[in-house]
Amino acid sequence: MVIETRNAYETFEVGKKIGEKAHPGQVYTLTGDLGVGKTVLTQGVAKGLGIEEPVSSPTFTIIQEYESGRLPFYHFDVYRIGDIEEMEEIGYDDYFFGKGICLIEWANLIEEILPDKRISIIIEKNLEKGFDYRRITIEALE
Ligand code: ADP
Ligand code: MG
Repeated sequence: MVIETRNAYETFEVGKKIGEKAHPGQVYTLTGDLGVGKTVLTQGVAKGLGIEEPVSSPTFTIIQEYESGRLPFYHFDVYRIGDIEEMEEIGYDDYFFGKGICLIEWANLIEEILPDKRISIIIEKNLEKGFDYRRITIEALE
């Protein structure tokens, strides 16, 4: 599925719908350049799950956990990861194969440990269509 957005609010709304429909145990991967809107979409997912506290990218930790929504929400940002070992250290598989919702910003950096069954979200710009245009491709992988 491809969705085009024209501002941050529309991307937030895409995330919100995902959060509203999310099922226990789902893993979402988010791929796209810096500043493309991964965190904006994540904030929408959190909202859709009923999380009211502010969600920002976990800068000094790989993962931020939110327990106040409809389902546990595990927000990963692996942008600064040095080695896949760091994922082992936090016990990532308890999250990936648990009952909550995982969302991983920069998932392409940890490709080798991603579960086969996941939902891929790719966000891309196209400057020919304007500075705030984003193309969001959502695909369920098995
Ligand atoms: P990332 O997490 O991918 O590095 P952020 O979500 O932190 O990116 O930032 C995206 C920035 O782009 C925000 O400043 C946001 O306001 C802006 N923006 C402009 N247009 C859009 C759009 N269509 N969708 C999402 N963000 C947009
Ligand atoms: Mg981000």
